Amino acid sequence: MILKPRSIPLIILQLKALLRRLPNNDHRRPSIEKDLIMFEKGHRGELQLDHYLNFFTTDPHFLIQGLRLRDNFGSFFQVDTLLLVRSYFCLFEVKNWSGTISFNPALKQATRKVQGEQEGCSDPISQVFLQRTHLLKWLQNHRFSTTIPIYPFVVISYPTTTIEIENNFKLIADHVFHAHAVLDHLKKLNDKMSTDFLDKKTLRKIGKAIVKHDVPKKEDVLKKYLINRNELITGVCCEACGCYSIIRSQGQWYCSSCRTSSKTAHKQALEDYSLLIGNTITNAEARWFLRVSSRNVVNYLCKDMKLLVSGKSKSSKYNLPNKYPYM
Ligand SMILES: [Zn+2]
Repeated sequence: MILKPRSIPLIILQLKALLRRLPNNDHRRPSIEKDLIMFEKGHRGELQLDHYLNFFTTDPHFLIQGLRLRDNFGSFFQVDTLLLVRSYFCLFEVKNWSGTISFNPALKQATRKVQGEQEGCSDPISQVFLQRTHLLKWLQNHRFSTTIPIYPFVVISYPTTTIEIENNFKLIADHVFHAHAVLDHLKKLNDKMSTDFLDKKTLRKIGKAIVKHDVPKKEDVLKKYLINRNELITGVCCEACGCYSIIRSQGQWYCSSCRTSSKTAHKQALEDYSLLIGNTITNAEARWFLRVSSRNVVNYLCKDMKLLVSGKSKSSKYNLPNKYPYM
């Protein structure tokens, strides 16, 4: 059973919003586009593992797809996929690397070779073992039993990627495999781990507590790419032709370019605002971003979207939803 299904990572939604709001000739677009491709590739790799885990039948089991928890010291650790069964837990770190990836367990080092080019990269095995330490600490802090074994795995999503383990360290080789081999590895674990450490109720309780404490990462993408908010294209985007020459007329949005009208086009704009600038918006900020001159129109649109208000009169702010997409 999936306790938390994978959603599109916020960073992907943020970068898409940023590209919608930057002029076509902006010099930062190429690096944003490159990063977006990288994040989308990573997301596809995770979906690949999700696909194979759909066929995992041990009952009961709980899957948490994408997780970010706060540790004791206020910093965060991320887990691509967490699997909970009564006799063991598994942590999966998914890598979408192509070419040949070789691990040197003695040096805790990984090297990637793609089309003759070689580069060092952070060692995912050390990374996933560290995640295990963090998870154990988290369980301890939340007064859950930590006697259950937790297995950390690195999953290579592409079936064509060659995995090399230097000196053939058996201990390490057992922790790295291709996505399509995940069920074989879990079957071996099922055979080996015959003792149930937890009953179904406790297992579910742990899973629910973990999901409850998930804190998705929201980056300040304007800061990341050194973009001032005044450089963004403001206005409501036409859903039909994608232009920003859309105006508010007689209770709806009217596109002067393709002559389409819409009642909901402002939702995308407010979503962009939330992804790029912040979760709250004042009436003045909304007038600026939606290119609307009337205070009343903004009030009407925000009330219509049932946005909660905090603060009073001029300092009052509307809280934008943090569930995406708005439409
Ligand atoms: Zn249009």
